[in-house]
Amino acid sequence: MKTSVAPAVHPKDDPWEAALQQFHRAADHIPLKRGIREYLAFPHRELRVTFPVQMDDGSVRVFTGYRVHHSSVLGPTKGGIRYNPRVDLNEVRALAMLMSWKCALMHLPYGGAKGGVACDPAQLSRTELEHLTRRYATEISVIVRPDGDIPAPDVGTNDQIMAWFMDTYSMHLGHSVPAVVTGKPISIGGSAGRREATGRGVMIAAREAARMQEMPFAGSRVVVQGFGNVGSVAAYLLHDQGCKIVGISDVSGGIHGPNGLDPRAVLRHVQQTGSVAGFPSTTAVSNTELLELPCEFLVPAALEGQITRENASRIHTKIIVEGANGPTTPEADEILADRGIVIVPDILANAGGVTVSYFEWVQDLQSLFWSEEEINQRLERIMVQAFRGVVQLARDQDVLWRTAALIYAVKRVADALLTRGIYP
Ligand code: NAD
Repeated sequence: MKTSVAPAVHPKDDPWEAALQQFHRAADHIPLKRGIREYLAFPHRELRVTFPVQMDDGSVRVFTGYRVHHSSVLGPTKGGIRYNPRVDLNEVRALAMLMSWKCALMHLPYGGAKGGVACDPAQLSRTELEHLTRRYATEISVIVRPDGDIPAPDVGTNDQIMAWFMDTYSMHLGHSVPAVVTGKPISIGGSAGRREATGRGVMIAAREAARMQEMPFAGSRVVVQGFGNVGSVAAYLLHDQGCKIVGISDVSGGIHGPNGLDPRAVLRHVQQTGSVAGFPSTTAVSNTELLELPCEFLVPAALEGQITRENASRIHTKIIVEGANGPTTPEADEILADRGIVIVPDILANAGGVTVSYFEWVQDLQSLFWSEEEINQRLERIMVQAFRGVVQLARDQDVLWRTAALIYAVKRVADALLTRGIYP
């Protein structure tokens, strides 16, 4: 898995501070007891692990990883594993909290978690990645289990890494435990439709947003930042709906094609060359410039903290559909709202992934598998229902869509917490 893509350098507002600010903005609208609000603002459990990995040249490198459970009130915790150089405890905390709200909003019987290892997977060989994954899986297996905490892929991880994770966990127990992770290959208990699920949810969210805003959908211009699992699938499914994809980027930079790009052809180019750069008949743009291209839909699908107080006034779109988690900072939210730009928040827009992960887990536990058609239909129903619920609440309470989504989710978790009672 060695590629020529350079490691990223990122502007970084603290994602944990941003997640907390968003939480408190929503909590201000909910009559929460003081202690309950305080409890929900903290992660329930945090594990930090430092471990050695044998490299191909015989040397030993030490890596740091994390697994954070934000809340297990609604059920076992669920959330992805990220391999990226900027992974740290605050990033993992923020992503774990977002998972709690996302699962609550989608009515999935899960709490929120996240994990990650500070590393650059592009600089590791396949063998080194396998060693790192198996050791990290072993280290965090003290708090991971199919009925307690179920990881999934995120930035820098994929179905192969989930396969190594599942195999490692299974070896320790002496029998196969497919339900311990989701996003696995179909051959070992993965689900039809999971690979495309997050991007499909983004497409559904964009379509519903166009409907709510009474805007035409087909023909509208779309810019996608990040061309991995989420960005690439969202791009080709939006293209299939008749949208015109005018800009795409990855960590190496972006391409602008005002006449429209075929995302599947760009994908083939990425498979051959390792990046979107140099795709024929396009102009090279930086990631900063890409976010400012004129379009009707902007889909950030890379990392958090991309739309900030610095560039929010230069964003030229009508609707932002947050494929990524936390791409817009709270300051940027305010600037964009003042400018009339609508945001479909991450916990709604990218919830297709965890929704189909839930389907995968249910199928694994029952050893009974569904057709892709059935999965896509269920996903469509859940996404549309959640979307309409958020828009209705936003109207009723006169708040932004993000605040409405968070109010709904936080309230569900708080209600469940009070119903269960405070132990002892
Ligand atoms: P991925 O690793 O498959 O792809 C990430 C993409 O972003 C790559 O194209 C990479 O080159 C690009 N990228 C990385 N750093 C960048 C930068 N600084 N500027 C521009 N591009 C950059 O990851 P993914 O699974 O597609 O996840 C993307 C986002 O979506 C993350 O925020 C993740 O948390 C979120 N998300 C993923 C899922 C899922 O199912 N995979 C579900 C919900 C949310």
